[in-house]
Amino acid sequence: PRLANQIAAGEVVERPASVAKELIENAIDAGGARIEVEVEQGGTRLIKVRDDGIGIGKEDLPLALARHATSKIASLEDLEGVSSLGFRGEALASVSSVSRLELVSNAESDPREGWRVVAEGRGMEARVSPAPHPRGTSVSVRDLFFNTPARRKFLRTEKTEFAHLEETFRRQALSRYDIAWVLKHNQKVVHQLPPGDSPSARERRIASLLGKNFIEHARYIEREVGPLRLSGWVGLPTHSRAQADQQYFFVNGRVVRDRLVAHAVRQAYKDVLYNGRHPVFVLYLSLDPDVVDVNVHPTKHEVRFRDGRTVHDFLYSSLHHCLATSRP
Ligand code: ADP
Ligand code: MG
Repeated sequence: PRLANQIAAGEVVERPASVAKELIENAIDAGGARIEVEVEQGGTRLIKVRDDGIGIGKEDLPLALARHATSKIASLEDLEGVSSLGFRGEALASVSSVSRLELVSNAESDPREGWRVVAEGRGMEARVSPAPHPRGTSVSVRDLFFNTPARRKFLRTEKTEFAHLEETFRRQALSRYDIAWVLKHNQKVVHQLPPGDSPSARERRIASLLGKNFIEHARYIEREVGPLRLSGWVGLPTHSRAQADQQYFFVNGRVVRDRLVAHAVRQAYKDVLYNGRHPVFVLYLSLDPDVVDVNVHPTKHEVRFRDGRTVHDFLYSSLHHCLATSRP
């Protein structure tokens, strides 16, 4: 199982940011109202995610670290077939095969009822030991790739790795305004975001994550046509300091990168003669889950619309109208 886990880790765990993404998704799934992410040395030394969600009971703790599906990988020849399978239910197992992982959780209301389990590269320590913890879960991942030097070599500088991790945090925090978020790096608070779903609370969060400049030069957009609903902020091209990477697009609450979306936005900018400006936006599209397939690949943020043409035209016309009526 160790080999299989490490192979799976190759798919899911590329760098500290990918570990953070998996841990944060678990914390969201657990219904956490407050999620704290603590990082040391860009995440290479420590990534710790703490939530106040439902927690994991004592009996289920070891199961959380086990791969859900029996591994079908008998040999390296089988590897190719694996890439087509889903990797769900394997994140923690995969991460623990290339790090020192500690899981402490409490599913009760009594803060003394917490339990802890550790796994370190080679395998899991079967023993579950008592460890006080308030209701919820803390997952600590230390020394990523300590036992896979080839992988470790591909890690960049602390600064670069943290930048990737912060970007992951940003996307998650922009997807759930009802959750309170904290991000710390080397004991310093980098982001502290109170919960709040009102438009002004959302704007405060965006300003704090993307800069005041972004929101001051953005226009709010809200449009609904049939089953399609678009809302969010579009940076106006007067925003000369726009950064190329400030493009956030969420489909039914999940961040996605999609060619069709990028194209529709770029085209709208171009046709309103805002050439040469980077489109910047935080946009939320919601539509019937039946007509979209978000989980094309578990780690790449891909999406497949059943009727791409309609979605494209809807985005294009919404943005075109917004930009055209906002010209100085
Ligand atoms: P997946 O999330 O795809 O099920 P993971 O390996 O990420 O697989 O997690 C395994 C299981 O461990 C989850 O299904 C969940 O039951 C449990 N788990 C992990 N993290 C948490 C958490 N923060 N709170 C509660 N349960 C968790
Ligand atoms: Mg998961």
